[in-house]
Amino acid sequence: MATYDYDIGIIGGGAAGLTVASGAAQLGAKTLLIEKEPHLGGDCLHYGCVPSKTLIRTARAYHTLKNTQVYGLPPVEAPPVDFLRVKERIQSVIAAIQEHDSEERFCRLGAQVEFGEPTFFDEHGVRLNGRSVSAKTWVVATGSSPDNPRIEGLDETPHITNKDIFSLDRLPESLVILGAGPIAVEMAQAFCRLGTKVRVIQRSGQILTKEDQDMADAIMHVLAAEGVTFHLNASVLGVKNLGSAREVRFQDREGNVTSLTTERILVAMGRDPNVKGLNLEEIGVALDRKGIQVDERMRTTRKHIYAAGDVIGKFQFTHAAGYEGGIVVSNAIFHLPRKVDYTFLPWCTYTDPELASIGMNEKRAAEAGIEYNVFTEEFKDNDRSLAEGERVGKIKLILDRHEKPIGVQILGPRAGELLSEWVAVLNGKVKLTTLASAVHTYPTLAEINKRVAGRYLSPKIFSDRIRKGLKFFFQLKGRACGE
Ligand SMILES: Cc1cc2nc3c(=O)[nH]c(=O)nc-3n(C[C@H](O)[C@H](O)[C@H](O)COP(=O)(O)OP(=O)(O)OC[C@H]3O[C@@H](n4cnc5c(N)ncnc54)[C@H](O)[C@@H]3O)c2cc1C
Repeated sequence: MATYDYDIGIIGGGAAGLTVASGAAQLGAKTLLIEKEPHLGGDCLHYGCVPSKTLIRTARAYHTLKNTQVYGLPPVEAPPVDFLRVKERIQSVIAAIQEHDSEERFCRLGAQVEFGEPTFFDEHGVRLNGRSVSAKTWVVATGSSPDNPRIEGLDETPHITNKDIFSLDRLPESLVILGAGPIAVEMAQAFCRLGTKVRVIQRSGQILTKEDQDMADAIMHVLAAEGVTFHLNASVLGVKNLGSAREVRFQDREGNVTSLTTERILVAMGRDPNVKGLNLEEIGVALDRKGIQVDERMRTTRKHIYAAGDVIGKFQFTHAAGYEGGIVVSNAIFHLPRKVDYTFLPWCTYTDPELASIGMNEKRAAEAGIEYNVFTEEFKDNDRSLAEGERVGKIKLILDRHEKPIGVQILGPRAGELLSEWVAVLNGKVKLTTLASAVHTYPTLAEINKRVAGRYLSPKIFSDRIRKGLKFFFQLKGRACGE
C-alpha cells in the first residue's frame, strides 16, 4: 500500500481550508495546511467580510452624527473623515481576529502549517518550496480573486479592488464603482456616507441582481437619497488614465455615451477562482468557467481531491465555505457519505437597511416554476423600528402551494440577525403556528417574524367558518360596533 507524508493536505488557509484543517487535525489525521500569504485567515479576514463590516460600522456612526436631528438632537458640524484613522480601526479589528487564525493555534490543534505556493506534480504529490510533499487526500480551498474584466484601457489605468480599498491612505473625493453586486453596493453606501462622491455603473437594470427587484430597488432608493448616483443598463466602453484623475466612459441602452471623471475606480464585477499555478487540469481535476467542478460530496473529478469555498464558484460566502469544509471533513475523515444541501443557505447584504435572504425568493421560485404565495409585514408597523427611526423595509414570507414555507427575505434594520430565527424555523421544520404563538419580547424588531407568520394564519383563525361555529356552540352575539 502506498504511504504518504500526510493523511490530508489542504491548500488555502481561508474559511474553507481552516475548517477542514481544524476538524481533520482534531480528529487525529496527520494534517498539512499550505497558505501562500504570510498569514492565515483568507479573504474574509483581510480583504472581505471583516474590513468591510468594520468600515460599514464606522460609516454608520458618521452618518448618525450628520443626522442627529432625526433623533430630536441639535445638528452637529461633523469634521471631515481622516481615512488613516479609519484604516487603523480596520487593522486593529483584523489583528484581534487574526489571533484565532494564527499558525500557533493550528499547531496546537495538531496541524502543520507551511507557507508557499504548491504545484501538483501528480495526483498525490505537490512541489512546495523546492521539496516534494505527499498526502493521501487533498483539499483545494484557494478562494477567489476579483475578476479583471476586459475593459478597454483598464490595464493601463490605476484602479482598485477589495484588496486595496480598506488600506487607502486618504478618503477619495470621488469613486466610480463598476458593478452593483453586494460588495459594490455595500462599499457605495459606506464611502458615500464618509463623504466620497459615489457613482455606480451597472450593466443590468437592477442592482443586486440575485435579489427580488422590489427589495433591491428599495435599497437603491435609500442609497440614492443619501447621495449615490446609479447608472443602470449601462455598459462600460472604456477607462482612461488622466494622470491625477481617471475617466470612465459608458453607454446607455439608447446609445448615449457619458463620460465621468473620478479620482478612483473600484472594480467589483464578480470573482475568479484561484486555480492558477496548481496544475489541476494536468492531474485530472476538471474546471469550468466558475471554478473547480465538485460533486455533492465536494469531491473533484479525482475522488481523493476535494474542493471547497469560493474556488468552486457556487455560494461565495464565508459561512458557505465553512459549511462545505465540514462536508469535506465528514467525507474525507469520517468516511461518511454526507452531501451538501444549499436549500436553506442564508446570506445578507450589509447595507443600511440590510437585505437578508434564506431559501427561495420570488425570482428563484418563479425560475424554478414553483407556485407560491407571499405574506408581508412592514417595518413601519413595528413599534421598535419606529422608536429606532427606521421606517424602510419589510419581510416577505414565501409559501408554496401546499402552504409550506420555502423562503424568507428581510429588508430592514438588523435583517441579518433577524433572519437567524428563520434559519432555525426552516431547518428545524418548525410549524408557523408554533412561531406565531411563541411569545416574543416587546418591543423588538424580531416581532416582525412572529407577525408575518400571524399574517398567514389570521385569515384561517378569524374566518367566517370559525365565527359561525363559535356562535353556534357558545351563542356569541356578534359585532358590538360598526358593520
Ligand atoms: C469585500 C468583501 C466582502 C465580503 N463580505 C462577506 C460577508 O459579509 N459575509 C460573507 O459570508 N462573505 C463575505 N465575503 C465573501 C467571503 O470573503 C468569501 O466567501 C470567503 O472568504 C471564502 O472563503 P474561502 O476559504 O473559499 O477563500 P479565502 O478566504 O479567500 O481563502 C483562500 C486562501 O487560499 C490562499 N491561496 C490562494 N491561492 C493559493 C495557492 N496557490 N497556494 C496556497 N494558498 C493559496 C489565499 O491566500 C487565501 O488565504 C466578502 C468578500 C469580499 C471580497
